[in-house]
Amino acid sequence: MATRSIRDKQKDVQDKNLAVLTALLKDEDNKYCVDCDGKGPRWASWNLGIFLCIRCAGIHRNLGVHISKVKSVTLDSWTSEQIAMVEDMGNSRARAVYEANLPEGFRRPQTDSGLEAFIRSKYETKKYIAKEWVPPQPRTQVRDGIFNLFAPLHI
Ligand SMILES: [Zn+2]
Repeated sequence: MATRSIRDKQKDVQDKNLAVLTALLKDEDNKYCVDCDGKGPRWASWNLGIFLCIRCAGIHRNLGVHISKVKSVTLDSWTSEQIAMVEDMGNSRARAVYEANLPEGFRRPQTDSGLEAFIRSKYETKKYIAKEWVPPQPRTQVRDGIFNLFAPLHI
């Protein structure tokens, strides 16, 4: 064991992370794009903790990295911190947070321009966000490691 290279260990972490992501995508919560409901998302915004279809991922890229940090689930490598963010959030919880005040009977737009307007109101101007929502801090900034990311929000 002592002879294993750092490179091997990094590969182990990558494999493990990919396994976690694959499992998350199989979860009922994440089977549909968080924004347009498209089936089988393969992209993610790791800082928002959500899974996206390729079309919505493109729109998220246009928002800029200060709002949304987009990654491919299958093509990009992930750090453990990034994995933790999507693990802790996921699409169902993200909808509860970012769509808390969606008008009754709201239908998700399906045109590109409609989707972009929806995504911008959702994450840029945070039009529908749960008022009590407090964004989580990256885990590495927490000293004792024992805390609840979602303590202020009861959903
Ligand atoms: Zn989508």
